[in-house]
Amino acid sequence: MQTPPKAVLIGRTNVGKSSLFNKLVEEQKSLVSEIAGTTRDRFEADCIWRGKIIRMIDTGGLDVDQRLEIEKNVVEQANIAIAQADIILFLVDVNVGPVADDLEIARKLLKSGKPVIAVGNKADNAELRRRAVSDEWRSWPLNRPLAISAKQGVGVGDLLDEITTTLIKAGKPPVDVAEILPMRICVLGEPNVGKSTLLNAVLGEKRFITANVPHTTREPNDAIFEHDGQTYQFIDTAGVRKQASRRNSGTPLERIGVEKTLDTLTRCDVALFVLDITKDITTQERHLAGVLQDSKVSVIIVANKWDLIPNKTTTSVNDYEKIIRGFLPQLKYAPILFTSALTGKRAQDIFDLISKVFQSRFTQLSDSEAKQFMSKAIVRHRPMRGKGVKSPKIMSFKQTHINPPIFTLAVNLSRTDSLATAYVRFLENIMREQYDFTGTPIRIKIEVDRKSHTTY
Ligand code: GDP
Repeated sequence: MQTPPKAVLIGRTNVGKSSLFNKLVEEQKSLVSEIAGTTRDRFEADCIWRGKIIRMIDTGGLDVDQRLEIEKNVVEQANIAIAQADIILFLVDVNVGPVADDLEIARKLLKSGKPVIAVGNKADNAELRRRAVSDEWRSWPLNRPLAISAKQGVGVGDLLDEITTTLIKAGKPPVDVAEILPMRICVLGEPNVGKSTLLNAVLGEKRFITANVPHTTREPNDAIFEHDGQTYQFIDTAGVRKQASRRNSGTPLERIGVEKTLDTLTRCDVALFVLDITKDITTQERHLAGVLQDSKVSVIIVANKWDLIPNKTTTSVNDYEKIIRGFLPQLKYAPILFTSALTGKRAQDIFDLISKVFQSRFTQLSDSEAKQFMSKAIVRHRPMRGKGVKSPKIMSFKQTHINPPIFTLAVNLSRTDSLATAYVRFLENIMREQYDFTGTPIRIKIEVDRKSHTTY
């Protein structure tokens, strides 16, 4: 397991170090639900930005006595930061401009050769943002400060982009979430489709981890494996085995165990939905597809028993894919993997596909990207009227959640259904064309906002 690069925050008392740190931590809390505990305490937090992890450290993270001293002594902060940081975030106050202390630190940081970003905090309005590029910074040895407002959260996304770019240039790139967080996977499908066989084929020769793994909570029936340095946690594997032994029993609804499935899904990131490619798709499977579409879980369709298809040609995969898409239109976003659990063919490909799909749960548009996306979407298609007599205007559009991604769209009319659902689908489709959300459900929540001035 890799460790993420460290970004250390330093700055004089009162420039807003803790506010920025808290803002980053708070945003993580509201953006990411149920993430299996990334490092996060008062002074250290793993920050996820666009699917990558950066460890943020506030120089307050020292013992209390020392801290009081160090808070006063920025030179000491700088020394600490230089020693342990992969990147230093040097906070200054744009209201005050660079004071002698700031200049001294800036020169020291520059000399250290460590990557540094100067951050101009308290740029709460346009006037103050202009201050960050004013003449008072002429003697400033670092790049002009990047204007942000930690209090309002303005510019924080740009700052995270800048941190990412700088870390990449410095050869310490932020780490993919899939490299650090365990991926929680369940295997679902009708009895006899080959779930147990697939699980055995996939996990057969892998290292089975029995010790505790960071960030994981393990239930007795979970199996945790490592593959290429990444951690895969298969949820409720006993459930899969039990189902296999009760083959062909019970009513159809009991067979697929919808209740149990819903329960399992609450603990998962990615579901492997296994089909027997030699059989017609059943009503139960179509029902399960609907359940998955409405869930927070990403989906990979595994079309199993591919070895039993006779006389395959170069178009067979396409032909079968069309059939599956026709029967399971709800899961149009799910990639399909054709496997043979029995021979093991392509079973190992599942790992890479799981990582790719897991990673896509963290695809993230900054506020300005989301805004731009909407401006372009509207040029292609004006918002269509849903219920009600008037055509709605779109007031704002933002990504409000990752893992799984959720967008919030505000309309100016009092009904949230005043925007046609076809239009919401259109937005989802073009979103998928432009960004990688492979296998992952996208939600677009409609809200009413009659006051905002930024209409599209
Ligand atoms: P489960 O009930 O979904 O767990 O299904 P099992 O894994 O128990 O498999 C049901 C039957 O299908 C067994 O006889 C397996 O040997 C067989 N089977 C599973 N996968 C494949 C496959 O890829 N090809 C073939 N030919 N048979 C398979």
